[in-house]
Amino acid sequence: MTNWSLTTEVFSLVVSIILLFNYRGRKWHYSRKSKFYLVCLSTTIVSIILNILCVHSIENAAGYLPRWFHMLINSGYFVLILFMVTVVACYLLEIIYEHIYEQRWMQRIRRVFIGITAAYMALVVSNPVTGFLFWFDAENHYLRGPLNRVGYYLMAVEVLIILGCALLNWKHLNDSARQVIRTLPPAVILLTIFQLLYPDNLLNGGIMVITDIIMLFNFQSHRIEVDSLTGLGNRGCLYQQMERRIRLQSYFQVIVVSLSRFNLINQHYGAKNGDAFLYEVGRWMDELSPEGQVYRMGNVEFCVLFPYRNEEQAEFWVKAVQQRFLQPWVVGEIKVVLPVRCAEVVYQGEQWNCSNIFEFINYSLRHTSGKDGLVRFDQKLFACWNRDREVLSLLRQAVRDNRLEVWYQPLYDCKTGRYNSAEALIRMRDHDGNLISPSVFIPLAEENGLVDELTWFVLEEICRFLGGERYGIESVSLNMSAQQFVSSDLIQRIEDCLRRYQVQPQRLKIEITERVLSEDVERMCAIINRLRDMGVCFYLDDFGTGYSNLSSLLGIPISCVKLDRSIISGYPHDKHSCIMVKTIVHLFHQMGCRIVAEGVEDELAARQLRLVGVDWIQGFYYAKPMPVDMFTAFLSQKLNFSDSDNKC
Ligand code: C2E
Ligand code: MG
Ligand code: MG
Repeated sequence: MTNWSLTTEVFSLVVSIILLFNYRGRKWHYSRKSKFYLVCLSTTIVSIILNILCVHSIENAAGYLPRWFHMLINSGYFVLILFMVTVVACYLLEIIYEHIYEQRWMQRIRRVFIGITAAYMALVVSNPVTGFLFWFDAENHYLRGPLNRVGYYLMAVEVLIILGCALLNWKHLNDSARQVIRTLPPAVILLTIFQLLYPDNLLNGGIMVITDIIMLFNFQSHRIEVDSLTGLGNRGCLYQQMERRIRLQSYFQVIVVSLSRFNLINQHYGAKNGDAFLYEVGRWMDELSPEGQVYRMGNVEFCVLFPYRNEEQAEFWVKAVQQRFLQPWVVGEIKVVLPVRCAEVVYQGEQWNCSNIFEFINYSLRHTSGKDGLVRFDQKLFACWNRDREVLSLLRQAVRDNRLEVWYQPLYDCKTGRYNSAEALIRMRDHDGNLISPSVFIPLAEENGLVDELTWFVLEEICRFLGGERYGIESVSLNMSAQQFVSSDLIQRIEDCLRRYQVQPQRLKIEITERVLSEDVERMCAIINRLRDMGVCFYLDDFGTGYSNLSSLLGIPISCVKLDRSIISGYPHDKHSCIMVKTIVHLFHQMGCRIVAEGVEDELAARQLRLVGVDWIQGFYYAKPMPVDMFTAFLSQKLNFSDSDNKC
């Protein structure tokens, strides 16, 4: 007759129930990890209850209860113990392999665990006949079978496998995982040895609760998966959720809402009200449907994930979100309509990964348009995104292999009738040798931090050309992008390059668009002024394409303005276009700037532009952009010898 002590089991039961209540009471969405954890916690509770029930019925009600009942609850307990260990082992396995691309080993080991559990189940199921694990005599006394301890040995095998995997992949583990590996297996092994030595002191529940607590500390911290302001899942949690759905090939729809100009709310109503707004938006999205899981992806970006059933349903959710954001939000006494950009992605079993989806979401958000700022997921946009990715990869290769080219487009000087300056324009070819327009790859280079490399390459080519040039070209202009004006070594690099090729700074012009000026005018002016002091002049490119703010132009030391093709296109047939060109030319001349007319394609326009006093004409009518050898041939054919000064 056995005499078991249940003190540890009862204490463990109380602790695990407290853990469960605290865990479920949180407002958040369950990720795969948290679901795993809930399974562990629930299994702990059920197995401790079963254990207490088993012991109690054996000790106090052996004679009253039928033998099948004893058999059933004891078998249930035996099954649950190993099940729990297997769940924990699989959970740890996922954590160990979380950042390892090659998942084949993880799947194999998981199969081993499942195999071990299945074999043990078979042992439990056959136990009423074989009595290998335990059996009951005629008075329903519990008796240990010859394999009674096999469950412990199997647990030990699983623990050792996990330890082995962890040690083999140690460098891939994060701090939490390392901490668990350092503490959990030794604790479990020690307690198991103790249990084997003193079998009457029941400790299984204690071992399970210690496991739950160690995992709670390390993997289930609220901070890891939850956004503290809204209580919604965070970006990492969304990532895991999508990853799981992709792995299971379960279709889903993601709707992302990005609040535009939210900083205005913070500025007008204060950060506290701003937070209240964010909470309110998150709460509304959370309550939209029990099916939708809501996450805060970024500071002002929310995302809701729905299972995808059909297009009608998907459209319904998009419309619901879109309609809501057309209505005002009321938070306290504040009532505002929040402008948003809204994008959608639908996953239907494609070979995507989460990074692709995030990339596509960002791409879609950048391409939202219209009053509602919405982009629905469609194959056309997806194709554009794919094409952009291909172009970007081509661009990276071209930069790496030094395969970019610089072409030159001459500018016709209306006063001298000579081609005394040019614009340098970058060129890139695809694998078949076809040219890809810079208007396609420059924005991509800007978005992906490549534009600096392109500019320095073009500058180097310009300086090389000007250093050896003999055909009357006084200056060449270089296009620069807005974000380059934040780099601290900009002036130094330009100076170094000019010096290396012994090119006078007056021969380099830098073209900037009005967008550059919209960034940080004071900083820009400081940089422009320093370069001007060196002798490098600035041209304002693409004037008239929409960013114009004449008052901000007044303070900028620009020496020349390039009228965009869109202004010139109606010229000289369109009366309004004529008035506009005349007025602009007059205005900038009065301000001491010179004028280039861009995109001139016919003789009539060229003649009229010369008459209104434009200083240079750049256009296909005179010359198209061309590679350097053609450019020099063009110049020598035009007998383009210079006798004028280098003027800005
Ligand atoms: P942009 O600086 O305004 O350059 C003028 C563009 O107008 C060039 O296009 C040129 O080929 C085109 N163009 C000139 N005359 C005519 C004409 O008569 N008719 C027509 N239809 N087009 C004309 P391209 O070379 O395709 O460059 C497009 C834009 O790409 C440039 O506009 C510039 O913003 C950017 N870009 C080109 N090279 C560079 C570079 O090295 N760095 C940076 N940051 N941007 C560059
Ligand atoms: Mg330009
Ligand atoms: Mg231009």
